[in-house]
Amino acid sequence: MIIDGKKEAQLLRDKIKKEIDLIKLKFNKVPGLTVILIGDFAPSQIYVKNKEKNAKEVGINSEVVRYPKEISEQEVIKKIRELNDNDAVSGILVQLPLPPQINKEKIINAIDPLKDVDGFHPINVGNLSSGHNATVPCTPLGCLLLIKKNEPNLSGKHAVIIGRSNLNGKPMAQLLLKENCTVTIVHSKTKDLKTECLKGDIVVAAVGVANLVKSDWVKENSIVIDVGINKVGDKIVGDVEFDTVKEKAKAITPVPGGVGPMTIACLLKNTLECFKDR
Ligand code: NAP
Repeated sequence: MIIDGKKEAQLLRDKIKKEIDLIKLKFNKVPGLTVILIGDFAPSQIYVKNKEKNAKEVGINSEVVRYPKEISEQEVIKKIRELNDNDAVSGILVQLPLPPQINKEKIINAIDPLKDVDGFHPINVGNLSSGHNATVPCTPLGCLLLIKKNEPNLSGKHAVIIGRSNLNGKPMAQLLLKENCTVTIVHSKTKDLKTECLKGDIVVAAVGVANLVKSDWVKENSIVIDVGINKVGDKIVGDVEFDTVKEKAKAITPVPGGVGPMTIACLLKNTLECFKDR
């Protein structure tokens, strides 16, 4: 089965919109999302445009604060503090990557953890790893929703995650542990990737290497989630060799049209949850 991320994302957005419509009716308030965009890096411009469009469609008050790439770290932190104190703002997102004069950690740490819709603040990271309530990074959250759609009870399943980034691999592992999976994380220094991957009832590839995962790396009837976005010529491909692996997997996400659309839908979900929590 090919998992249709676009369709799942649309269903999630519809659900979010319904809830926001009700909240608006009852309390005359809607969630607000502010995105800070620094510089003119083309992919960031596209991501932010999509985020803004999707937020507006579900009824979130969306605002983009744009700065030139020379902006100082202090200026950005000043703006974040202002947004932290603004009651109309439920979520703050600083689009990465940042220019070299701006320290990513300092920026993330400046965001109120209750408005940290990306789930990157150390308090959210810590809460997630201690199994407490946390805002979870959007991409792994989207992956979990897609996995659970196909396999609602993950208890006892063996999940293999390829990649250990703070953005994807590590939070994905925490989420699957919370679901009572046995989790293996593999990375660039792992000795025998294929043997490890073959243990997975669930395989999540978040690597950034085109077509790394071959069909003889996955076992029959596994669920394969491909986070990778790699440009090969003029095509976008994932970390999984889709055409061969789809013959073996029980369910698999395509690239594009799999995890990507869920990432933005989960940003909207996180914004709504932050609004409700506050
Ligand atoms: P990252 O920070 O570069 O991390 C990549 C991870 O993969 C690292 O842990 C690295 O190991 C591991 N790795 C690299 N080469 C490997 C190899 N040959 N064998 C095994 N492991 C290897 O990347 P990321 O930010 O997690 O992103 C991963 C991919 O997801 C990228 O293609 C990115 O564009 C994509 N992405 C997609 C979405 C979406 O919405 N679909 C969102 C975010 C990112 P070491 O730790 O040992 O270096």
